[in-house]
Amino acid sequence: HAKSKGRNTFEFFSQAINRGVRERLEIENGLRDALKHGAFRLHYQPQVDLATGSIRSVEALLRWRHPVLGVITPDRFIPIAEETKLILPLGLWVLDRACHQLRTWRNDGIAGIRMAINVSVKQLQDEAFFEALGSIVERHGLSGSDIELEITESAIMENLSRVQAILKSLRDYGITLSIDDFGTGYSSLGRLKLLPIQSLKIDRSFVRDIETDQGNAKICDGIIALGHSLGLKIIAEGVETAAQKVRLQDAGCDAIQGFLIAKPLPADEAAKLISRVNAIT
Ligand code: C2E
Ligand code: MG
Ligand code: MG
Ligand code: MG
Repeated sequence: HAKSKGRNTFEFFSQAINRGVRERLEIENGLRDALKHGAFRLHYQPQVDLATGSIRSVEALLRWRHPVLGVITPDRFIPIAEETKLILPLGLWVLDRACHQLRTWRNDGIAGIRMAINVSVKQLQDEAFFEALGSIVERHGLSGSDIELEITESAIMENLSRVQAILKSLRDYGITLSIDDFGTGYSSLGRLKLLPIQSLKIDRSFVRDIETDQGNAKICDGIIALGHSLGLKIIAEGVETAAQKVRLQDAGCDAIQGFLIAKPLPADEAAKLISRVNAIT
């Protein structure tokens, strides 16, 4: 009996592994096609300034509708895109699309917001990145100061010496640089001070139970104090409740982003929200 059970367990896992491998291959092959056939979309999630209540920027978040697997979230395909180098053309597509959207909104009279775009450290390490970005930004009649780039803390800290020069060039071009998922990547004060960054985004794992977990509440307070001492703005991500917002506001947080304000939205819905919120404030 035990033997047959063991065998079933083995078969169960080997089937699960096969499924995992097949799915990975499906994603890997699908990425190239998706880029060619326009299966990617961007959704936009607003960031609200806590001092004024207005939307000061929106974050572009990538969505992929796969013909077989349905909608695939970026956490599942970005790592594969990075390994296969497809992140380079995909990342340029994102930049182009996001800049096009900001330009369209401006033409429609929606002004005063910046576009925040996530970039992989693989993109930053590509020698052609800086020039490609500049020509996309300018093709849409925008400037560096219209753009914010988000890079995850762990990616920066693991590649500090390799990214420092490009971050400096991006900053000189007027781009705002934010460290994403902050608190998960072992930054030291000394290393943070070396980076030409303007803001930190507190990882949503600390925000989630800020009201119930004293430790996480203290981490949020600590990040805010640390960031402010370095002259940085602090944005909390994943804010889902009014109580979380109040707690962060009391702690001196500068801006929030999360389902409390809005989920990542298609462009037309995001535009309506921005117009409505910024007209009142
Ligand atoms: P991120 O940049 O930290 O983005 C925040 C993630 O949290 C998004 O997941 C967003 O949908 C989700 N989120 C926002 N508010 C809430 C909330 O209140 N509650 C909860 N539970 N979740 C919330 P998403 O869109 O699945 O993206 C996951 C990650 O994929 C992003 O994390 C980012 O690191 C990466 N990513 C997304 N788009 C791109 C892209 O164009 N390029 C690159 N390189 N990475 C991207
Ligand atoms: Mg981000
Ligand atoms: Mg994040
Ligand atoms: Mg993240």
